[in-house]
Amino acid sequence: MNMREKQVSDFLGAQKNIVTQHCGFLDPLDIDEYIRLGGFDALKKCLTGLNPEGIIDQITGSGLRGRGGGGFAAGTKWSLVKAAEGKEKYIICNGDEGDPGAFMDRMLMESYPYRIIEGLVIAAFAVGASKGFFYIRSEYPLATDRMRKALAMCRQRELIGENILGTGFNLELDIFPGAGAFVCGEETALIASIEGQRGLPRLRPPYPASSGLWGKPTLINNVETYANVAWIISRGPGEFSKLGTAKSSGTKVFSLAGKIRRGGLIEVPMGITIRRIVEDIGGGIADGKSFKAVQIGGPSGGCIPADMADTPVDFESLTHAGAIMGSGGLVVMDETDCMVDIARYFLEFTQNQSCGKCTFCRVGTRRMLDILDDLCCGRGKPGDIERLEELAVKIKQTSICALGGTAPNPVLSTIAHFRDEYEAHINGKCPTGKCKELIKYV
Ligand code: SF4
Repeated sequence: MNMREKQVSDFLGAQKNIVTQHCGFLDPLDIDEYIRLGGFDALKKCLTGLNPEGIIDQITGSGLRGRGGGGFAAGTKWSLVKAAEGKEKYIICNGDEGDPGAFMDRMLMESYPYRIIEGLVIAAFAVGASKGFFYIRSEYPLATDRMRKALAMCRQRELIGENILGTGFNLELDIFPGAGAFVCGEETALIASIEGQRGLPRLRPPYPASSGLWGKPTLINNVETYANVAWIISRGPGEFSKLGTAKSSGTKVFSLAGKIRRGGLIEVPMGITIRRIVEDIGGGIADGKSFKAVQIGGPSGGCIPADMADTPVDFESLTHAGAIMGSGGLVVMDETDCMVDIARYFLEFTQNQSCGKCTFCRVGTRRMLDILDDLCCGRGKPGDIERLEELAVKIKQTSICALGGTAPNPVLSTIAHFRDEYEAHINGKCPTGKCKELIKYV
């Protein structure tokens, strides 16, 4: 095996393609090719051979959990919407990905639009929805264009619309372009946005499963969750649950970015270690530098230091390690990265995106950011770490949505694993020398 073949084998060998099945040789908009490769067989099987309860049983049996960040059991969510009262129900695909460093949903929509549509139509049949939306942020013009063209093609082939495949099942689907507010990725804010209101989260309960879009029962899953569905129905839930760990089955798509030799969209079995992702798939750290940490889960997630690189990537292990799975951003950092500056960067993002409804999320994150700005430009004071921790706890306790509830995570996890760097900043030193550059921004 020559060097090039070895690199390809390392990059692809540890991956498992379910939502990215046939990657590299599937024309995204060629519906005949998708059908030739088994596309829409799962939909036919569901509409002609399974009842809604049977479909939900298969999804429950597979152990599929929502891939948007929360990790809620998909089968449970589907059964709640199915059981909700009322004949009129909606279905939504959340494609409002906006985390820094994340591009999973964009690439899935650009590359596998029919797989996402097929999964969503199966879900709509299972829960009894007759109208649905793909909520896609308008910063993703290619993804929006491909989803729009794919929907038009599906309509032509009677795979959506009225009397789908001659079975009497009707489902109207539209695209709703999001205007780019990160908070609209939160399901109640997303619903408000489709309803034409300002995209503000609201207190739950009631949950969208019982009172969602225009007060009707609504199923919301993200792009990657729907993209798993056809594979599960075609291969059976047992094949899916064999992959991954006992509580986190299947695979997870990550956008591997940062100081890595080979970045890109990857799909790995749950339970793989961070070390294998960084060293085997990513080819290690670029430019001969040493591996310092990964930020996993974007601005809602946390950092995991290199000495914990054998942590398995699954919902439970990541939470236990002080990070979260999130939707799939994975940014690798090397020895030259300042962890206080990294925490400041992510908090600045969430602070900027806070909708302002909750006082601690609005003002508390601003106060935390002030402290981090001070630390990064040599104005740190004794007690800053404790003040950051105190504010973080209060923000988490008093925020009504996950944006505020998780915003302090990058700060808390970097304090937990790199407290010495915070202490050095209080003493006016940045161990990596990075923070000198920040003075001009503050
Ligand atoms: Fe808005 Fe933050 Fe409250 Fe969420 S936690 S509703 S983003 S203020």
